[in-house]
Amino acid sequence: MKKTVLVSGGAGFIGSHVTVELIQSGYDVIIADDFSNCDRTNYNGVCQITGRQLPLVEMDFCDIAAVRKLFIDNKIDAVIHFAAFKAVGESVSDPLKYYTNNLGSFLNVLQMAREQGCNVLFSSSATVYGEPEELPVTENSPRQPATSAYGNTKQMCEDFLRDCVAAYPGVRGIALRYFNPIGAHPSALIGELPRGVPNNLVPFITQTAIGKRECLSIFGNDYPTEDGTCKRDYIDIVDLAKAHVCAVARMLDDRMEQPYEIFNIGTGRPLSVLELVNAFEKVNGIKLNWKFAPRRAGDVVAIWADPSLANEKLGWKAERSTEETLAAAWAWEKRLAGKQ
Ligand code: UDP
Repeated sequence: MKKTVLVSGGAGFIGSHVTVELIQSGYDVIIADDFSNCDRTNYNGVCQITGRQLPLVEMDFCDIAAVRKLFIDNKIDAVIHFAAFKAVGESVSDPLKYYTNNLGSFLNVLQMAREQGCNVLFSSSATVYGEPEELPVTENSPRQPATSAYGNTKQMCEDFLRDCVAAYPGVRGIALRYFNPIGAHPSALIGELPRGVPNNLVPFITQTAIGKRECLSIFGNDYPTEDGTCKRDYIDIVDLAKAHVCAVARMLDDRMEQPYEIFNIGTGRPLSVLELVNAFEKVNGIKLNWKFAPRRAGDVVAIWADPSLANEKLGWKAERSTEETLAAAWAWEKRLAGKQ
């Protein structure tokens, strides 16, 4: 019997890539999305890549009646929860929007997991580590107080999951802490679709390269790193998606060693902003217009993962090179430009 995975926020950047990998690994997937922060491009792309018209439920996960109906109408073996707002700056200016939506929707997922008995995979973030004292960070590195409401929701949802798993016997959970997901599917049929001016580095780079933005600002060149720019762990989106398949299999095949587990999902290779920009220019043969600008408030100096726990326990490893990933990001941007 095929197992069914519900992917909330399945039409978004990460959700769409995860859906493709789940289908290609033999799972049935139900996509749920309210299209509040994306259009149908990725949903259509997922259907094209997989050759299937995938079940799509348009719904808001804060609506408990709709969530309950979904769980009662379908036998859901695992739920992967992506449906959340993700703009860090907006979460600082409008924290209630983030607390209401991001916590409310996850509480509904947990309620249904309790009622129906279901495995829960939560999409957490390396932001929970704040500015780490030791690098690379392991899952045991201390969490730091969040500097935004968005970051706070990630910590709170991890705690909600931990407590529910401890209290309700039918619930098991895994939290994956993502580092910096970048790139696009090699088919260039799905990718990142930022609304308005991108906050994240790679979409800003590709939009500058295509001529949608005039110049990339590199935020800060006086950080205590080799070249003065911040260091991150950029993880290919397809590699990241595959980690979800490994985590779902671990839950559904009864291989969890504890009912609540946490894994870092990163490459373990730090790259500075300048190194990433140079790699993009080199692999795509493009001269990018960029300048140094003041530091951006809230940025940590450096963070990268120790992914060895995920390597060992999930049997997962980041495989794609930064060059492949940046070429895929550029192919996606060009395809988007061709559509407009
Ligand atoms: N960054 C930059 N210019 C931009 C966007 C980002 O220099 O237009 C830098 C940012 O300061 C950070 C890195 O790129 O050092 C990654 O930022 P991003 O927003 O992509 O992810 P974050 O690590 O903040 O989650």
